[in-house]
Amino acid sequence: MHIEILTIGDELLDGLTVDGNAARLGRMLDPVGLRLSRRTSVRDRIPDIVAAMTEIASRAEVCIVSGGLGPTSDDLTVDALAVAAGVPLFEDPEVWARIVARFDGRAPTANNRRQARVPEGGRALQSEIGTAPGIELTLGQCTFFLLPGVPREFQWHLDAHVLPLLRERIGERLPPRSRILRFVGIGESAIGARIERLALPPELAVAYRVRDLDIEVRVRGADPDAVADAATRIAAAGEETFVGEGDVSLVELVLEACRRNGLTLATAESCTGGLVGSLLTAVPGASDVFRGGIIAYANAVKTQVLGVPPLVLESHGAVSEACAAAMASGARRVLGADVAVAVTGIAGPAGGTPEKPVGTVCLAWSGGGLDRVTTVLLRGDRDRIRLLSASRALDGIRRGLARTGAGA
Ligand code: ATP
Repeated sequence: MHIEILTIGDELLDGLTVDGNAARLGRMLDPVGLRLSRRTSVRDRIPDIVAAMTEIASRAEVCIVSGGLGPTSDDLTVDALAVAAGVPLFEDPEVWARIVARFDGRAPTANNRRQARVPEGGRALQSEIGTAPGIELTLGQCTFFLLPGVPREFQWHLDAHVLPLLRERIGERLPPRSRILRFVGIGESAIGARIERLALPPELAVAYRVRDLDIEVRVRGADPDAVADAATRIAAAGEETFVGEGDVSLVELVLEACRRNGLTLATAESCTGGLVGSLLTAVPGASDVFRGGIIAYANAVKTQVLGVPPLVLESHGAVSEACAAAMASGARRVLGADVAVAVTGIAGPAGGTPEKPVGTVCLAWSGGGLDRVTTVLLRGDRDRIRLLSASRALDGIRRGLARTGAGA
């Protein structure tokens, strides 16, 4: 089915509002096996809106229009649809009665009356939130849905009016034709190379997206069985870097694995400055697992609070496996946790040396059978290196618990 979205508003083209409604619709269509074919944005000008509607009506089966349904003079979408359809507007008494009722005794203005207008041949889509009703009108082969721009109202109308009609048109709910797989601790090109070696059927599309904590691989195709088979093979190719599908979150996986094993967690962070702790505490209910963290940025804090031996700093430096290991065991002791993870590294842009270039990060895990130390060389700017360090720190717990058989 050819579906398009037309978003209306000067603020979208002036960069003052991000077009979240188009993204919202795109995300919502995917699970029902549909895709947006095109998105168009135009200013609050009747000729521009009419031209866009006429063009879209000539090629699309469904067009969702967002914005310009309010009561003010820059809300022109209904007028434009009437012009594009070559029909007059009429006042829908039922819509008007609802608007009056919503005002609860206060007097609606003449402008509010504009919101009761519907182009001839169309129908109002009643709203249970907000005053503006949506409007449905078929122009040639294309059904237009005019929806309010306010994101919450836009979403409400999609769920209440648009999705049911789309489902009806496509008949039985289609099985998912795309799958999303997530990987941690591997670069985009490395996972890409592994997937290329699988020589998947060419009719399947594979797309990559680098996110803060993981790499997302989306496989899509017309045949649900072929997509399912490819997803299984892609997951296997990722080996232990594969963390799960869909909405799975690395941080939640870590908390869940600790919870299942009755393990409490602590952090000792240098270059990440509390990022690991922040990610953990962003998840509601983390308190049953996460005891706390120490940001040991200065060497004095590493020695005085975490008990890192001064000799370790003198002979190996703060960015060293020996220091990371001492930080982890210190955090475990000071914070009374079963498991602790420590991160110390050079996030840049300055501070790199030939032996320890920017991106050198030492990580250590202590307790719970996870004792391990490693050094990685991460690429990116300061923000990226800090994020990748946090992702590696958390992933070490996930992998460690999976290895001990406790994470599954
Ligand atoms: P209102 O009754 O508020 O006038 P409306 O249907 O006329 O609603 P707009 O005036 O175009 O919608 O936008 C209302 C609000 O929704 C604004 O804050 C705007 O920034 C936001 N908005 C509009 N379009 C979008 C969009 N495509 N994505 C995200 N937000 C949007």
